[in-house]
Amino acid sequence: MALIVQKYGGSSVGSVERIQSVARRVYKTVQAGNSVVVVVSAMGKTTDGLVKLAHDISLSPNRREMDMLLSTGEQVSIALVSMALQEVGQPAISLTGAQVGITTEAEHTRARILHIATDRIERHLNQGKVVVVAGFQGMVSAEDWEITTLGRGGSDTSAVALAAALRADFCEIYTDVPGILTTDPRLVAEAQLMDEITSNEMLELASLGAKVLHPRAVEIARNYGVSLVVRSSWTEEKGTWVISPQPIPRALINLEIARAVDHVEFDTNQAKVSLLRVPDKPGVAAKLFGEIARQNIDVDLIIQSIHDGNTNDIAFTVISSTLNRAEAVASAIAPVLRSHREADEQAEVIVKQEIAKVSIAGAGMIGRPGVAAKMFATLAEVGVNIQMISTSEVKVSCVIDNADCDRAVAALRHAFEIEQRGSEGAAICPLSSPNAELGAITDPLTHSNGFRYRTESNAADTQTMGVQLPVPPVRGVALDMNQVRLAIRQVPDRAGMAAKIFGLLADHNISVDTIIQSQRCRIIDGIPRRDIAFTIARMDKQAAMEILNVAATELGWGEVVLDDVIAKVSIVGGGMVRQPGVAAKMFEALAQHQINIQMIATSEIKISCVVAQEQGVKALQLIHAAFGLAGSEKMQVSV
Ligand code: ADP
Ligand code: ASP
Ligand code: MG
Repeated sequence: MALIVQKYGGSSVGSVERIQSVARRVYKTVQAGNSVVVVVSAMGKTTDGLVKLAHDISLSPNRREMDMLLSTGEQVSIALVSMALQEVGQPAISLTGAQVGITTEAEHTRARILHIATDRIERHLNQGKVVVVAGFQGMVSAEDWEITTLGRGGSDTSAVALAAALRADFCEIYTDVPGILTTDPRLVAEAQLMDEITSNEMLELASLGAKVLHPRAVEIARNYGVSLVVRSSWTEEKGTWVISPQPIPRALINLEIARAVDHVEFDTNQAKVSLLRVPDKPGVAAKLFGEIARQNIDVDLIIQSIHDGNTNDIAFTVISSTLNRAEAVASAIAPVLRSHREADEQAEVIVKQEIAKVSIAGAGMIGRPGVAAKMFATLAEVGVNIQMISTSEVKVSCVIDNADCDRAVAALRHAFEIEQRGSEGAAICPLSSPNAELGAITDPLTHSNGFRYRTESNAADTQTMGVQLPVPPVRGVALDMNQVRLAIRQVPDRAGMAAKIFGLLADHNISVDTIIQSQRCRIIDGIPRRDIAFTIARMDKQAAMEILNVAATELGWGEVVLDDVIAKVSIVGGGMVRQPGVAAKMFEALAQHQINIQMIATSEIKISCVVAQEQGVKALQLIHAAFGLAGSEKMQVSV
């Protein structure tokens, strides 16, 4: 007998018939000998309707009242699902988040879960009842018992958090698609269903726009080792398993705010190549990285800055031993890229040998803006200047001077309270094998009920045997049309600037992604300065502009520039590490159709390109096809 948490999304409970069908599925699961906790969302598009009502009344509705309003949607569905269960002869009880004891921080409309009391649920389960819990909501356990919500799409997070707190055998997310597909099937009809995906990959996809799972749900699954599957509530298909590595044991208090950083990593075997002033037109990145790939040179981080005038800067890092070859490629290409403008507008190649990459690794780095800000502040405190930044949900990396590496690592270890654990499971480690990054993917066992999930013991066994399933270079493609790009011109090039900017945004809970500092430096008033650009969620645009405009005036930075007609298209795959040619293929797909890339940012397992908003869907379709994800052209798999 297993304890299963089943979550049904809005469309799965969108009508009386759908609710009755959910009740039948739950009943069947109980009849098979399992205990079931059901988590439900509001019916259909109820939450959208409530948001609209609020905006019809107020331009900026009060956030506490928003929570009062939005939490009603889920209360309707729990009662109806519970009644439907009782109708099929299954004892059931509905409970709101507050009745369960789901306590959260006092952050209205985006609260994180701190703790879930399990006694009341367990009592009802022991009485043979199905417990139907309202997703997306909790309460603040201070004197006033305030109702909070977790953020749009947050019912997934409620479900996985409940599974962690109850130590459930697994958590099933039932939705309106057969599982996790290679991209959004509404945008690319040929998208293919995956059998499984690693939690790190899914974290990236979810935070880059794949709304099939709430990123925070994946974060909890990864941190607590919850076996998680996404399935269709219409069919009996197996769905997609999200596979997590063996978790580092952690307490169930401060569930969503407990430490985000598991490791500090460093790599001193890196060198940087920058190409300055390359023309801002389609095909440049494709040409450069196509040639780099043909030479079989493995590129680690790539950034391409916002354009300045008619030119861009592109910088990338390679393993030190390949620097000469990479430089030769860049130098050979630079003259071809020359525009016929004045001499100071000519493309130029700069290499830097003595660099190091320091990284903090864990889960939920973008979703928790304070984490990256703390990393930048820590480096600033010890006087380390940051040359390149790479952000992702599972890792934030900074390229710094090699000479600063030891100091930086020691400071980061101290700041994030990472102990040095020696050789077995070192918490601070030089970057080594790609799979060390991802957590070994082990073969899940097939459970007698046909579901597959990993137990701690079989995970340990297969790790000992060294069994690892192949990880494709590109697992999925995501599109985010809800981002805007901000750029701050002429920020002084000295330690502490990234800390200042992203600290200010983090103080207002604004998550930042795709951070890029221009490579070229301008001396203004005797101070070397660079531009810094990044993307944020559209809903944070107003607040971010206000904060940064004030800071820019006070601190003498240049203009703050907004572009709100962008789209971010990203590829994600654990196997792209040490696999030359993946980036080139993505850039070539865009170049062939004359799509200009405005920004490029990468991390070990993702590559994101910012393009014009009107080209977003086309870009997604082209990239999906280029990697053969529709099944026509199978990608080579690296083991
Ligand atoms: P629910 O109401 O069940 O929570 P959501 O609408 O939040 O459902 O999420 C399911 C939707 O996510 C799908 O209908 C699909 O359009 C979208 N989606 C985006 N990316 C993906 C992907 N990679 N795989 C599957 N679905 C995706
Ligand atoms: N009903 C909420 C929303 O629409 C929560 C969810 O569906 O996950 O965002
Ligand atoms: Mg959802």
